Amino acid sequence: MPRVGLIYHDSFLEHDTGHQHPENHARLEHLYAHLRSPEFDGLFDWVEAKAAQRDHLLLNHSSVYIDYVEKACSERSALLDDGDTRVCDRSFDAALHGVGAAMQSVDLLHRGEYDRLFAAVRPPGHHAVEKHAMGFCLFNNVAIAAKYAMAAYGYQKVMILDWDVHHGNGTQDSFYEDDRVLFCSIHQSPLFPGGGHESETGEGNGEFHTINIPLAAGSEVEHYRYAIKNKITPAALAFAPDLLILSAGFDAHQMDPLANMSLRDEDFYELTELSLEIAKTHCDGKIISFLEGGYHHDALCRSVGQHLLALNKSQIPVEA
Ligand SMILES: [Zn+2]
Repeated sequence: MPRVGLIYHDSFLEHDTGHQHPENHARLEHLYAHLRSPEFDGLFDWVEAKAAQRDHLLLNHSSVYIDYVEKACSERSALLDDGDTRVCDRSFDAALHGVGAAMQSVDLLHRGEYDRLFAAVRPPGHHAVEKHAMGFCLFNNVAIAAKYAMAAYGYQKVMILDWDVHHGNGTQDSFYEDDRVLFCSIHQSPLFPGGGHESETGEGNGEFHTINIPLAAGSEVEHYRYAIKNKITPAALAFAPDLLILSAGFDAHQMDPLANMSLRDEDFYELTELSLEIAKTHCDGKIISFLEGGYHHDALCRSVGQHLLALNKSQIPVEA
């Protein structure tokens, strides 16, 4: 029986941003079709996402903002906040299932039903802040997963590794003064959203619990490998997380139209393996991964395939 679960939901395909928009429904249509091909038979279970409740959204977002998003979606008001985050009348439901996948992944991991979970969701989440949508993101799925894990199950130290090509500003904001969460982001710089400088290391109790590793355009897997082995893994060793969550964007791929990095399909296998090494050292090899960006459809399919192969291949042996 596979110990890897892939969380999906048809509502993610109904979040209509328009065909011209890079974060459009075709991303997941292609991805789901690709992952149903025979090469992935038996490698993971398809797990249908449940919808989140309002209380779950409140873990990371203000009541006023939640109302604003719900109303904007019901009125089909198309553009939120910064202008490139589009919604339709089905977007709120899709976002509720994206956040639902956050809680569900924590539940399934905690109950031991799966050792690895990949939530193939949209809209993505890591740019969303408490009171604003941003960069195609409505609610911060990863931040909510971390807060839910701490609130519902008493996890004490959550590590979030964000390798999307864009800085995970929303997630950083959520935990900037929180010493219970180690947030690490590797991203292209300069690039949207503009922050993520090395000097941003956290404040107050959260000082030194934020690690930003900006990389120049054109960076290859060796630069990611160096960052993870020499900066992130030692920080993880000192922090000793009891849960590891990935913000897995695939827009650092060399084909991606929104960025300029040089990763190839198979490099996402290595990034996953390096992440799993951290999980094996501290978290019994357990890991939760969320889809963030990735806008070249074929590259996204192949790269997620590599991610899932790595999650499966180095799965924890089931004890007899
Ligand atoms: Zn991105």
